[in-house]
Amino acid sequence: MNLHIKGVGAAPGLAIGQVIWWRKDKPTVQIRHVDQPEQELSKLQKAVEQAKEQITQLRQIAARRMGEAEAAVFDAHLAFLDDPSFTGEMQNRIQSQSKNAEAVCAQVTEEMSTMLASLDDEYMRARADDIQDVGNRLLLLLSGKSPFDPSLLKPGSIVVSEELTPSDTAQFPEGIAGMATARGSKTAHAAIMARTLGIPAVLGLGNGIDRMKDGDTVIIDGDKGEIYINPSAEAEQAARTKMEQQKKVREQALAEAAQEAVTADGKRIQVFANIGSLNDVEIALANHAEGVGLFRTEFLYLENDHWPTEEEQYKAYSRVLKAFGERPVVIRTLDIGGDKDLPYADLPKEENPFLGHRAIRYCLANPEMFKVQLRALLRASVDGTLWIMFPMIQSVSEIRAAKALLEECRNELKQEGVAVADSIPVGIMIEIPAAAVTADLLAKEADFMSIGTNDLTQYTLAADRGNEQVAHLYDAAHPAVLRLVQMTCQAAEKAGIVVGMCGELAGDREMAEVLIGLGLHELSMSAGAIPEVKQAVRRVDSKTAEGLAQKAIQQENGDQVRKMAKRSQ
Ligand code: PEP
Ligand code: MG
Repeated sequence: MNLHIKGVGAAPGLAIGQVIWWRKDKPTVQIRHVDQPEQELSKLQKAVEQAKEQITQLRQIAARRMGEAEAAVFDAHLAFLDDPSFTGEMQNRIQSQSKNAEAVCAQVTEEMSTMLASLDDEYMRARADDIQDVGNRLLLLLSGKSPFDPSLLKPGSIVVSEELTPSDTAQFPEGIAGMATARGSKTAHAAIMARTLGIPAVLGLGNGIDRMKDGDTVIIDGDKGEIYINPSAEAEQAARTKMEQQKKVREQALAEAAQEAVTADGKRIQVFANIGSLNDVEIALANHAEGVGLFRTEFLYLENDHWPTEEEQYKAYSRVLKAFGERPVVIRTLDIGGDKDLPYADLPKEENPFLGHRAIRYCLANPEMFKVQLRALLRASVDGTLWIMFPMIQSVSEIRAAKALLEECRNELKQEGVAVADSIPVGIMIEIPAAAVTADLLAKEADFMSIGTNDLTQYTLAADRGNEQVAHLYDAAHPAVLRLVQMTCQAAEKAGIVVGMCGELAGDREMAEVLIGLGLHELSMSAGAIPEVKQAVRRVDSKTAEGLAQKAIQQENGDQVRKMAKRSQ
């Protein structure tokens, strides 16, 4: 390989193609004094109308290709165009300062995005990029300059840019092979869209990105977060062979995905999907999920600018339950706080939000709000096979309090003559080390437990799950985390209740044997991982797996565990 650069693997898979740069040259803006501000005002007005038309079109394309959840970002863009502190401020300045429209547009955009970027609130910081996107669009329209023409992107090409916004990715033609950007992280909009579209992506490459020129051949490794520029013929051939193998493995796994996952010695493991929006239901069914092991309900709250009503929630839950019929759907109650903010909830700023007033803590402190969700869940319970799960449980009293509210809602609905399913399993997430250590006590109050390794790992290893600086310390395969998983499984076994895992670790097919050996009965993951995990389960012998798990918890670190697990394949 000639040249190799490293960034953040944001969407998995290998891709090979020719680079096409999506350049974002900003028009240079001259500040001018104008004698007739009215002309500038009408110029601005025209540009705003054109921008609205463009964004509305983009929204439609995005909704068609990626679903409503991804398209919702354009609603925020449209709202900015009517925002008094954005376009309203531009009008004020044209009038009060007699400046040209381009100059005030550039000024207000810069000021507003700098202000948003400096806020502590992650949600508001993300809005800084949205403001830049809308401001640049307006500026191009005002300057009569044409933006990059996405029709130049040929199928099979690798799109390279300083940064790709949702408006950009929405315009990708079919068949883009991969993408690479200087800015952006795993949680950037562009990363989410790349994963949804199945395009391997490496983001956050910094200055390294300038090493790629139009027409260069590059290999993108979205799993490792690496890019090889103008690879040797042998390296390119090796990558193509690997892509071909990956494709075959995937096709084979998909062909067998409809069958149950049973280990070689006959132990049944349920393989479920994690879903985070209604659009994920179809993908989960297409990958033959045997149920939903985690339905993150936050999207209902994050997509709205108000607390979602009982009716809005009921409709969403009912749709998912009907889609899965007799297959269980584990719906997790609201997990807000931590890194997930709700602008309308007015959550106070906390020094340590991940250790703060989040999830079940927030819900129990706001019972009226919480009861809206519980009522909606109970109403939907007659439409399928509902299991209810409480997140971030730390002690028995929290389960009791949440169950008491659930009972209160059940009684209210009964009095109102509303039908509710007779038996609804109520379970908890094990995401806090204290919960894993006292799982025997918690198991007495729960019908099932599901281990959330994403949070359990960050709390056990004291490494923030979203902080790139400590990413090398964050590993769900660390023996400390695995020991807590084992303790939880043993407690569940003693209590005779189901124990599953719904953190990202569950979708790692190379770890399936260790996880089964630790005692898990159910694994829940992003739908795309289901076929290959089912395939991995079928190769496992549960007795050998137990031995492997015992060895795993004696390793010194996660790397050693992973190597050991890989060798055993
Ligand atoms: C987890 O913490 O592992 C989990 C599944 O919950 P979330 O990722 O939504 O915090
Ligand atoms: Mg969690």
